Amino acid sequence: MTQFLHETYLDYSDILIRPKMGMNLNSRKDVDLTRTFKFKHGQTRTGLGVFNANMATVGNFGVAKKLLVKGMFATLHKHYTVDEIGGFLKSCRDENIPTDNLFITIGLKNIDDEIKKLKELESKYNWKSPRNICIDAPNFYIQKALDVLSRARKEFNDAVIMAGNIASGDICLKLLDYADIIKCGIGSGSACLTRKQTGCGVPMVSLILECADIAHSVNGHICADGGIVDIGDICKAFCLNSDFVMAGGIFAGTDEAEGDKVEKHYQTNEILNGAPVMETKYFKVYYGMSSEYANNKFAGGMCDYKTSEGRELLIPYTGPLNKTLQDITGGIASCCTYIGAVSVKKMSKCATLIRVHNQLNKIFEKYSV
Ligand code: 5GP
Repeated sequence: MTQFLHETYLDYSDILIRPKMGMNLNSRKDVDLTRTFKFKHGQTRTGLGVFNANMATVGNFGVAKKLLVKGMFATLHKHYTVDEIGGFLKSCRDENIPTDNLFITIGLKNIDDEIKKLKELESKYNWKSPRNICIDAPNFYIQKALDVLSRARKEFNDAVIMAGNIASGDICLKLLDYADIIKCGIGSGSACLTRKQTGCGVPMVSLILECADIAHSVNGHICADGGIVDIGDICKAFCLNSDFVMAGGIFAGTDEAEGDKVEKHYQTNEILNGAPVMETKYFKVYYGMSSEYANNKFAGGMCDYKTSEGRELLIPYTGPLNKTLQDITGGIASCCTYIGAVSVKKMSKCATLIRVHNQLNKIFEKYSV
């Protein structure tokens, strides 16, 4: 019989964090934003658990470098060549930028080729411990994904391995036999069409609660991937006990994201000296990795058995990435002061989450400049 779960699954916009009395902090600058992660397969890393998505637009060198400088975690997308990644590692070493928290992404296309790529990085560019691997599959519910994961663990026993994406707790234990971090989230991404095209997906709040509980029971970690609309959603993910958060869209409008700024001119309602006043707005292109655009760019076109599960967007330009990163650290620190959490690690212990019908006052939304 078809199973039907009647419980309502919740997303970030369905909840808020309730401020509460906690007298142990005087200022947001006293909050400890870094956390030391002790991973299931023996490694330790320290930083603020925020990742850029391993997408071509934001999993690039420019974005990754800024996140590493700020003490966050970073991924590189899987379409870089070994020599390109090697050049990046060298430039980080020259600039004294630590790459301990940098994850190199591999896909599922051909296990031998993917492992060969990592081995070459090791021999040619001294990519040695501490090193991290992100195994990227839009759908990890296939045997091939598990095969790549187990092989990667066998070949790189000292690496931190992040694997995903999944959207149910049942698969976490199986993956944690080999992985350290499970990437959770299907259908939440801002450039994603999976829910429209397949009807599949799980809202992030309920998913984090389910997966964190299971993963933590065996010393595994999770990364909540996709669906971050506001910085507050990152705070919510940490309060819900996600160890890491991965985001694409909030980084995609920045200078450092891949691609040029696109300029557009609009006619306003104002008239000056008898002529309509024009205004200029700037945008950047952001596209899903399963979009037709990405398939044409990286896979020589769409296969005839596939539908596009991603879209191409022109999103508002947001300026230098450092501004967004400061908003992130500032937002998290401020959240901690509202709930009396002295560190990011303590957020889930201090937080009370409430279910709401309305989270934001949008009365002046259309007047924002
Ligand atoms: P965002 O932060 O933009 O909401 O979500 C970023 C996440 O969306 C990525 O980390 C990845 O998990 C997911 N994603 C990226 N490209 C695609 C795509 O083409 N289709 C789907 N279904 N998800 C995507």
